[in-house]
Amino acid sequence: MSGTILCLNAGSSSLKFALFRADDAAGLTALAHGKIEGIGIAPHLVTRDARGRVIAERRWARGDGETHESLLQGLLEQIEHDAGRDLVGVGHRVVHGGSDFFAPVRIAGDVLDRLTALCPLAPLHQPHNLAAIRAVTALRPALPQIACFDTGFHHAQPAVAQRLALPRSLADEGMRRYGFHGISYEYVARRLAEIDPTLAAGRVIVAHLGNGASLCAIDGGRSIDTTMGFTTLDGLVMGTRCGSIDPGAILYLFQHKRMTAEAVEHLLYEQSGLLGVSGVSSDMRVLLDSADPHAREAVELFAYRIAREAGALVSSLGGLDGLVFTAGIGENAPELRLRVCARLAWLGIAIDADANRRNDPLISTADSRVAVRVVPTDEELMIARHAAALLAHDANAPTSG
Ligand code: AMP
Repeated sequence: MSGTILCLNAGSSSLKFALFRADDAAGLTALAHGKIEGIGIAPHLVTRDARGRVIAERRWARGDGETHESLLQGLLEQIEHDAGRDLVGVGHRVVHGGSDFFAPVRIAGDVLDRLTALCPLAPLHQPHNLAAIRAVTALRPALPQIACFDTGFHHAQPAVAQRLALPRSLADEGMRRYGFHGISYEYVARRLAEIDPTLAAGRVIVAHLGNGASLCAIDGGRSIDTTMGFTTLDGLVMGTRCGSIDPGAILYLFQHKRMTAEAVEHLLYEQSGLLGVSGVSSDMRVLLDSADPHAREAVELFAYRIAREAGALVSSLGGLDGLVFTAGIGENAPELRLRVCARLAWLGIAIDADANRRNDPLISTADSRVAVRVVPTDEELMIARHAAALLAHDANAPTSG
């Protein structure tokens, strides 16, 4: 199987994409990646080559009427023009696979309907992920599409880690802890197996710290526990999401503040987290540069909660051999890593300050009892690998009849 694979990660107002060349002999080669932001307001496209250099940029004026679908159409036409009509498949990031879908799946038959039924479980992400699948189906009906799930990597966790302490009938309906960021964790676990196989075979906590943030306890390459649960609100403090809070606080918002479900949803997903606590920004760079005491408090809370949740996951793992930082903050914010590791010094973690400042791959000292690493994530490459594998499998499958 050879050809170009497009990976899409569609959000409410943004569309991230990446292009890979798939070749039986050479494997996958990154060609380009980019992002359209501000969809619905004033879209802005930036495309970069594999080395990160900007190769295309375009802005649309407010009121041009560009939609997700029209922008996707333009993108497909551009790719087909550049790739010589060699596009062989599209891989999608889909946040929720529910109880039925964990391995990547080809979009066919009733798959899309079954994924649509999961929208209430991830109302802010799933509808946009699926809209991109529908748009590609409408634009290029014959183009194979593959869905990869953020929940998939966690599906084999022990039952006790998946259960919510709610009546059993609700669990039977699918109310359980699923976990997210699984595409990133799968990539990091595999990468770790390449760069440090001994550590990868041990007990590791991976900290995916970006706008969304979670921790995953990985034992011998398998997820055994994670901080996100039934929804992407659970666990750590995030850019605009609250993370774990007392469920009674939500009852208070309904009963005493008389807020509607929509208003509470907006508060918890969009107005809380770093933004809510700082009143300044959801962007870690801005907060780290700010002298505002509320910004400092937000950063401190972010680090405190990571360390606290990491302590819980050490218990799930029965010890700790490695801590891995990844995603926008994890890969690029030495100060934040230092704060987290200082709080985890009781585990025998010791950080090499210079290596940490340089964002080196290994930032712990030689005598640290826990290895601390920085492993850049690559969710798009993980999606492309899955898409290429499924496409090759389908190409090699014997045809019936
Ligand atoms: P992501 O969701 O993985 O793209 O990560 C986005 C987050 O990473 C934002 O909070 C950014 O402020 C943060 N980030 C990116 N680069 C840096 C940096 N050099 N220092 C601190 N935070 C950063």
